[in-house]
Amino acid sequence: MAAEFVEFGHELIDQLDYRTSYLAVPVRCLGCGVRSTKWLSNLRRGHGCESCYAPTRAAIGDQSRFSQADAEAIVVSIGLTPTGAYVNALTPCPCRCGRCGRDVGPRLGDITAKLRAGKQVFGCEPCAHLQVGIDSRTSEAEIRDDLLAAGVEYLDGYVTPRPQFAVDASPASAS
Ligand SMILES: [Zn+2]
Ligand SMILES: [Zn+2]
Repeated sequence: MAAEFVEFGHELIDQLDYRTSYLAVPVRCLGCGVRSTKWLSNLRRGHGCESCYAPTRAAIGDQSRFSQADAEAIVVSIGLTPTGAYVNALTPCPCRCGRCGRDVGPRLGDITAKLRAGKQVFGCEPCAHLQVGIDSRTSEAEIRDDLLAAGVEYLDGYVTPRPQFAVDASPASAS
């Protein structure tokens, strides 16, 4: 299992931490050395290191300035309620998750980049992980119903019942 972390650019700090791919474990990035907590399931889906992604995020942010109203419309569209002022695309925007009620702080630049890429966006990582179970369903209409029932706006990304269905809340992937 440690080898798979390495394959995805991370070193498992303590092998004993690892239980399943759906629990986050402390890791160190082999690229920049920064420690973080990662789900192996996320790494398998192409997520990477936040610190390594920072320059990409900065580039996205430079292109993305929203009015307060536009920023609020975007976070509402992914099932969140704004609880504070939007500053810029790189600054976490204070929101409350409409599913679990957690206070979260997604970056508008990340959200819009993913929306443009046709990915489904949650803005709340714990809820995104809960939704992973939906993968076993077969019909797109069922997926849509499930997501709506969970308070999630269905956007795009459903391809097959396999894990290609983009369940994506972490800001670590640029593509
Ligand atoms: Zn890194
Ligand atoms: Zn949530």
